[in-house]
Amino acid sequence: MKKRYTEKSMDWKRKFARTILERGKYYYVHKYVQGLRYKDYIYKAQVIGSYIYQVEIKIRNQEPEYMMCSCPHAQKGNYCKHMAAVMYAIEDAGGMEQQMKLNMLEKKVKPFEKRDDVYRYFDVGRIAGDLEVTESAIEEAKKMIDNLQVGIDEVKMGYSRTYQGSIKVAVVQGYFIENKARRNMTCVFDRNSINRMECSVLGCYHYYYGSYGSDNIDICKHQLALLFMIDEYLKKYNPGDTTDHVADVFLHRFRSHQNRKNRENTIETVNDFHIEPTFEKAGNELALSLKAGTEKLYVVKNIKEFVQLYEAGESIAFGSKTQVNLAKHRISCESEKIYDFVKKIIKEEESRERHARESYRYYYESEGIKQKISLYGKRLDVFFDLYEGCTVAANSKSRGKSSKTTYLFKEGKPNFSLKITKDVDEEQIFHGIHVSGKVPDFILGEQYRYYFTQDAFCRVGEETAKKILPLMELAEYGDISFTVGRKNCM
Ligand SMILES: [Zn+2]
Ligand SMILES: [Zn+2]
Repeated sequence: MKKRYTEKSMDWKRKFARTILERGKYYYVHKYVQGLRYKDYIYKAQVIGSYIYQVEIKIRNQEPEYMMCSCPHAQKGNYCKHMAAVMYAIEDAGGMEQQMKLNMLEKKVKPFEKRDDVYRYFDVGRIAGDLEVTESAIEEAKKMIDNLQVGIDEVKMGYSRTYQGSIKVAVVQGYFIENKARRNMTCVFDRNSINRMECSVLGCYHYYYGSYGSDNIDICKHQLALLFMIDEYLKKYNPGDTTDHVADVFLHRFRSHQNRKNRENTIETVNDFHIEPTFEKAGNELALSLKAGTEKLYVVKNIKEFVQLYEAGESIAFGSKTQVNLAKHRISCESEKIYDFVKKIIKEEESRERHARESYRYYYESEGIKQKISLYGKRLDVFFDLYEGCTVAANSKSRGKSSKTTYLFKEGKPNFSLKITKDVDEEQIFHGIHVSGKVPDFILGEQYRYYFTQDAFCRVGEETAKKILPLMELAEYGDISFTVGRKNCM
């Protein structure tokens, strides 16, 4: 049986304007109120509107002591529709207090143990050692894990800006599977505490924002399950176990300096190291991959790492058997241009990352460049310049089929096949002309347009571009079709 507020229930409604009350009721009825929970006279819930707002209401003796909401309207000191919506939800969950009191009687345990004897850079015991949950919550969370309902998609290391400066954080993207649908979960934590946990499981939408000095970690059962998974992950991989970011950079520079010195002092004859580009074409998406080696050339699986290793003069593994000590090799003359091109792009990406880190609160060390580098805009223009007049190996993918081929990079004049017909009606009255036809599908660089023929990758020269520009502007996806009316002709 639901226990409802009696006459008293009118009291809280008086605080609200009628329209606000109506909106609140609408929100409640349409299930905008999510994750209602209760502890020590305080109710918390999320209200999902155009944004997700956090509402907190303290009720004693059936009378609201205070109401808080994170929406702008409430920030100005008003009673808002989100509060009203939550009040309706509290009314309907009249039994909740009782139920929660029972829950509170249930024995609580700490699922994660603080341990000082094991060193781990990130440690769930350290960040959630104070967390207390009921034994049944643990059981439920473990069951979710056993049923493969909870998992981790990705763990990224990044930096979070606080008033104390930049601190290293781990960002975990997790999921929960509910009725075959995936719901996202996020957990961000630094070495000492959980910064943020979000759960988008329907009906839960639990948000937790950690604040310094708060030992009251408030999480849902899905997040508890995710924390168990994170604990396992950290124990297995111990990520982030480096001194710190700045020290990393110094260490890297130091090693690179040492090795370069070695390279210059090496007396033994060194083999030249070759790097060759492969032009990757998938529809109109262009990219570049690399092959490298001394005699046999291998596909470079991680271009960014390759450049870092070469700069540092360290060894690189190709496949499972070949190990090349890059300190002993110099890049061959003909490979220098492609190496410099790639190195420049990697530097660009790094400075973009640095910029992102400085401008955003959360910055993720992006996975960055791996096996392919996208070619677009200015990059495409520069790449063409490097290989103009040369034939470049290519992997071409179209309509799902891949093929190996080569393209000659050259300047070209695109072919237009235009058909011009007179628009004449039955009485032989001339109404105008109709033009239709095809133009090549152009790919845009920053400065130039490009197109493919059977065996060439062609750049449209500036003179040609000027001439064909009006036509190209009429073309839509390679097709031209327009009519010039009689009036226009005269
Ligand atoms: Zn509000
Ligand atoms: Zn949840």
